[in-house]
Amino acid sequence: MSLVVMKFGGTSVEDPAAIERTAAIVAARVANGKLPVVVVSAMSKVTDQLLRAADHACRGERDAALAISNQLRERHKKTAATLLKKSTQEIHEFIDEHFNSLDEILRGLAAILELTPRISDLIVSYGERISSRIIAAAFQERGLNAAHFDARQVIITDSQFQKATPLFPLIEKRAEEHLRPLIKLGQLPVMGGFISANEAGITTTLGRGGSDFTAALIGGALNAEGIEIWTDVNGIMTTDPRICPDALRVKVISFEEAAELAYFGAKVLHPATILPAVKKNIPVYVLNSRNAANEGTRITSLAPHCKSPFKSIAVKKKLSIIDVVASRMLMTHGYMKDIFTIFDKHHCPVDMVSTSEVSVSLTVDSNDNLPAIAADLSELADVKYEGRKALICLVGEDIRGQNGMAAQVFNAIRHINVRMISQGASEINMSFMIDEDDAEEAIRSLHATFFKDPDPTIFDVEARKPIH
Ligand code: ADP
Ligand code: ASP
Ligand code: MG
Repeated sequence: MSLVVMKFGGTSVEDPAAIERTAAIVAARVANGKLPVVVVSAMSKVTDQLLRAADHACRGERDAALAISNQLRERHKKTAATLLKKSTQEIHEFIDEHFNSLDEILRGLAAILELTPRISDLIVSYGERISSRIIAAAFQERGLNAAHFDARQVIITDSQFQKATPLFPLIEKRAEEHLRPLIKLGQLPVMGGFISANEAGITTTLGRGGSDFTAALIGGALNAEGIEIWTDVNGIMTTDPRICPDALRVKVISFEEAAELAYFGAKVLHPATILPAVKKNIPVYVLNSRNAANEGTRITSLAPHCKSPFKSIAVKKKLSIIDVVASRMLMTHGYMKDIFTIFDKHHCPVDMVSTSEVSVSLTVDSNDNLPAIAADLSELADVKYEGRKALICLVGEDIRGQNGMAAQVFNAIRHINVRMISQGASEINMSFMIDEDDAEEAIRSLHATFFKDPDPTIFDVEARKPIH
């Protein structure tokens, strides 16, 4: 029988109705002879609210922090009460125990007034720990042989809190030890995504949006037949449908293209998701839990040929551009190394680089370390930095070898000021940086230009037809 990892995001478990739909989707897989392993996110917005509670607490605003925690306690209890008949009491106790300990942490934080990344991870972990328990109980009451499982027993990482790196050999070993036996007994493991632990058992997390990554890690470790990412849109679309309501579903896309899109801001998939799947050549599907009949997007190793140059357009906001200007030193040996050593020292990844005879421009996520990075760089050269930038990234295997593509792209956005351009690194993306305020307008213009006449073998053009 074939094993499939099914991940349901925040909106797919946001309320009792969504959890009912999720249970039905999983039950349909079981009825088809599949062996699902289910990974769930916290209920929608819960992670943001837990972070807000932590923020209040560490500023000494204890009551505001506890008020958020209370709202969350009630939301989870109401959800459990609506969904459960037999296990309501047991789950209410579980919820109370967890929120009581969360409240203790928040009170402690309000007393010591310091929030470390380690405590932040512990606080946000409650979202997935509680949602997964409620969902497992809901599955059990709907006839599924669900077993709640703490993901922190299997997803082992280093100790880089808030964005930990998984230790894959250990995860494989733990999955064989803890998960495989459950599956062999005919049970259906249900676990929280995003949360993990270091080797000492201290809670870590995989970074925002990390539940997708959990699903891929589990899929890779157990050699699943497929990994399904269930979300609130029909699949990977030609751009973010919130920006462009006429965005089309991409039926099939390569691992490489999907990875570029995710890295450059398409929130639909966590950027690291693809790697464990690529390694084992496991197909990933992006599917809509509100429209389960839709076939979604299939991500596979081979990209089919597409008549349009691009498959999708992503946007990454909240970026800063740093200009390092040194008229004499640029070509000296070791200069670039010195620049990158500074970014490395501050654990600050660089998205895009562009050099000229006299300057180097780099783009990074806007972050609190920028003044310190700029101060270090100013030892080498003159430095300027500017925030509120956005990176637009067009992705497609068929950019390779197409003449005149850059002209078409920049013609579509000729009314917008472009700060930095990059093409080449991967041959499948063309990216440029503009002011954040121009981003949506640029996306809409590019989308109108490049998806006017979409290839029906790759894009779901049916969806564009007017409904009669
Ligand atoms: P989940 O909670 O299920 O993980 P996310 O909010 O993380 O869901 O991701 C889904 C959202 O990603 C969609 O609602 C959509 O607005 C956004 N998105 C951004 N770019 C794309 C894209 N190219 N295709 C589909 N969705 C996209
Ligand atoms: N709940 C986490 C977040 O909101 C992880 C996820 O949903 O993927 O970032
Ligand atoms: Mg997500």
